[in-house]
Amino acid sequence: IDSRFPAMGTTIFTVMSKLAADCGAVNLSQGFPDFQADVSLFDAVHRHMCAGHNQYPPMTGMPALRQAIAGKVAALYGARVDADSEVTVTAGATQAIFTAIAACVRPGDEVIVFAPVYDSYVPAIETVGGTAVYAQLRFPAYAPDWDEVRALITPRTRMIIVNSPHNPTGALMSTVDLDELAKTVRGTDIVILSDEVYEHILFDGEAHASLCGHAELAARSIVVSSFGKTYHITGWKIGYVVAPAALMAEFRKVHQFNVFTVHTPSQLALAEYMQDASRHLGLAAFYQAKRDAFRALLAATPFELLPCRGTYFQLARYDRISDLPDRAFAEWLTREVGVAVIPVSAFQPDGRDDKVVRFCFAKREETLAAAAEKLMQAF
Ligand code: PMP
Ligand code: GLN
Repeated sequence: IDSRFPAMGTTIFTVMSKLAADCGAVNLSQGFPDFQADVSLFDAVHRHMCAGHNQYPPMTGMPALRQAIAGKVAALYGARVDADSEVTVTAGATQAIFTAIAACVRPGDEVIVFAPVYDSYVPAIETVGGTAVYAQLRFPAYAPDWDEVRALITPRTRMIIVNSPHNPTGALMSTVDLDELAKTVRGTDIVILSDEVYEHILFDGEAHASLCGHAELAARSIVVSSFGKTYHITGWKIGYVVAPAALMAEFRKVHQFNVFTVHTPSQLALAEYMQDASRHLGLAAFYQAKRDAFRALLAATPFELLPCRGTYFQLARYDRISDLPDRAFAEWLTREVGVAVIPVSAFQPDGRDDKVVRFCFAKREETLAAAAEKLMQAF
């Protein structure tokens, strides 16, 4: 076969989850909960199916869900978005990101991304003929350097992708960062793609700095979120995009011929479920308890834990344990110790290896305890 993407491998999440399954390891690699979501959500899907809501919804998503999303964005970020022209329901954040890139990036355009970079961004940019340009979030604080970003801007820069809370580092952007970003793009036609799938998972009382809530940036931003993270349903693959009408019109040009639309009864169920804000607002405390419990368990091992301000990922240095490169270490840990993790170099364009691995703590107490037990026995 004359491969169009000869250099493209298989996503690290698939690789590590498969290895974990093959080895019978505790899987703390790919980010997904191993506990059940709320059964009332399943009952609602069933109810809507039985009521006959089984045909195509509107291309942009069910009105009730778009209104619920607009309501949430207004309540949390003070943004007035029009549910008809400024909200679209997507098949998860991955499709939203791919579609946004396809809608905005022309062949030869440059897109600035921050490394470590979530693994779907660069393949999407390259698929449409764009070029990724990297700004490094520097180990160990992983904070953006806005002077570096400004130096990377050229007349070809079409988009900047930001992600806060940040996968894999757990770092957050502050409102000061947003002001810096606004200053950086002022006077250009650069579009911002903001991946906010962990918008409800921030710890120690920190507030999420959504681009929806920054009027100057919101006017040029496509903001992406995902119900998978928020309601423990990653397999449902439902997310959404918020963007000003003119940008959204461009997004929908691609969306209509990409997936067209998303599973009807689930949208209706989610529209109802979102009405109780305590469900998304309670997520921070729920995951903070898991983070703290997991960190306490790992404190008895030689792993050196990095700060985790958001997301459900914990980074750890392992140089007190091994000299192996992080991919080899992650594989060894999975095979020999029975705990699967993600090597952070998988998120680095140049394979830069800070000897750091990522643990997912979106797991039941027993799962985290079983992993810690294996680690304590091994080290
Ligand atoms: N962006 C980030 C930063 C993620 O971590 C993930 C998935 N964990 C996604 C996007 C994709 O979300 P979805 O599963 O809704 O496609
Ligand atoms: N985003 C999840 C993670 O970071 C995985 C999503 C996927 O497997 N594509 O682990």
